[in-house]
Amino acid sequence: MPSPETLARMKAVVGPHGFIDDVNDMAPYLVERRDLYHGRAAAVLRPASTAEVSALMKIAHETGTPVVPQGGNTGLVGGQIPFESGDEVILSLTRMNRIIALDAENNTLTVEAGVTLAAAQEAASKVGRLFPLSLASEGSCQIGGNLATNAGGTAVLRYGNARDLVLGLEVVLADGQVWDGRKGLRKDNTGYDLKHIFMGSEGTLGIITGAVLKLFSKPLAVVTAFAAVPSVEEAVKLLRIADNASGGLVTSFELMPRIGIEFVTRHMPGTVDPLSVASPWYVLLELSAGGTIESLNEMLEVLLAAAMDVGAVTDAAIAHSEAQRLKFWQMRESMSDVQRLEGGSIKHDVSVPVSSVAAFIAQASDAVGQAMPGIRPVPFGHVGDGNIHFNLSQPVGADKAAFLARWGEMSAIVHWIVREFNGSISAEHGIGRMKRDEIAETKSPIEIELMRTLKRALDPTGILNPGKVVKMNKS
Ligand code: FAD
Repeated sequence: MPSPETLARMKAVVGPHGFIDDVNDMAPYLVERRDLYHGRAAAVLRPASTAEVSALMKIAHETGTPVVPQGGNTGLVGGQIPFESGDEVILSLTRMNRIIALDAENNTLTVEAGVTLAAAQEAASKVGRLFPLSLASEGSCQIGGNLATNAGGTAVLRYGNARDLVLGLEVVLADGQVWDGRKGLRKDNTGYDLKHIFMGSEGTLGIITGAVLKLFSKPLAVVTAFAAVPSVEEAVKLLRIADNASGGLVTSFELMPRIGIEFVTRHMPGTVDPLSVASPWYVLLELSAGGTIESLNEMLEVLLAAAMDVGAVTDAAIAHSEAQRLKFWQMRESMSDVQRLEGGSIKHDVSVPVSSVAAFIAQASDAVGQAMPGIRPVPFGHVGDGNIHFNLSQPVGADKAAFLARWGEMSAIVHWIVREFNGSISAEHGIGRMKRDEIAETKSPIEIELMRTLKRALDPTGILNPGKVVKMNKS
């Protein structure tokens, strides 16, 4: 537990508005939205500048105070939540929410880490540019959190993960030193590319305080179809047809099962199935380009017709207004949330090669069904990237607590099959607390040892988000 003197020094850095130690006021920072992880903290620190983060880290380094960085608190693996000991302080980047510069000619946006993803998108949009990272949590999650988790989302197929969208970073190191690497260069081969060490490190190697983000030209036309497909194999066939026919204009390709559509229409007021005949699977397919909506819609119609000819699509609706497009997206974006209303839900965020998606879903569904008759798999997600949210809803009428108590057993089954396909047990949400021990089984000993070597080099006293991502002792 940090001493009263240490906390007083930290409070002096951030001022009374930047310091919370009242138990009630700290509560929102101590639990994540799914209520899976709860923690305690000695204080929540809310610095307003990089200089303040640096000063806080100097004190933490000197006093051995463990620090948990926190952005928008939308992480799904518990990385942003302190442990139960109460020895840690939370360092929230929320007040560092300034847009620093927008260089429309260089196509770059320089922001502080606490800028929300939605605010970064909006800043780009105002000058006719696109910041393409897109997640359902974009109103709350922050750029610092996005980069610390190397977030994915719905546009990875076209634009890449968060790490692909960054040209420069500013990071405060464990001892309080500031590395200002905020360069807006697309070419810079001057040795090790240090920014990539911090992206995806989930607050265990440094505190990201600022970034130079890559912008793109804003598509003039976006067209969206909600297509019924007879199987996951045919969905993958549709992806190839769409990609080839459009010359790489597919921005999003999201798979949804029938059961997910039923959950959404049952629980989300105002949602209706866009198609009249039920299908076992659906794809939300979006193309974007610089031409006119009419020409892009024509391309979409042609490729859907070609897919129908070969049996990859059985029916489809094309959005003819922005409102209709948003309705299609609402079906997809609500899919995770509505599972709460169906009782317990065990979540997996996995990836396999796109060519193995169908076999993976079939094998994993079969295996969990054998282990727990009546379990309801709801596999959906960014199938264009091979990323499946392999979620499992409890059997109808089952006891929720008893179902959730079998989370570890179900995950072991699913993750075993993921490994058989040479996949990843965390496609986009990270490791945090949830999968820390499990990664040791999915990575080679040399990979784990290299991760420990990096951690020891950048955080020798182990004060940055300790106990997350990689276990430091070998036992
Ligand atoms: P937090 O949750 O606050 O923190 C996440 C991790 O990053 C923690 O380990 C924390 O210590 C660390 N961290 C935060 N800020 C910093 C910083 N400045 N410096 C260093 N470390 C830091 N994720 C996806 O990838 N794709 C999706 O499609 C997606 N959809 C989602 C939908 C919903 C409804 C929700 C609730 C979450 C979703 N997520 C998704 C997960 C989550 O939104 C992302 O992981 C997001 O990037 C986390 O950002 P955050 O600011 O909320 O970070």
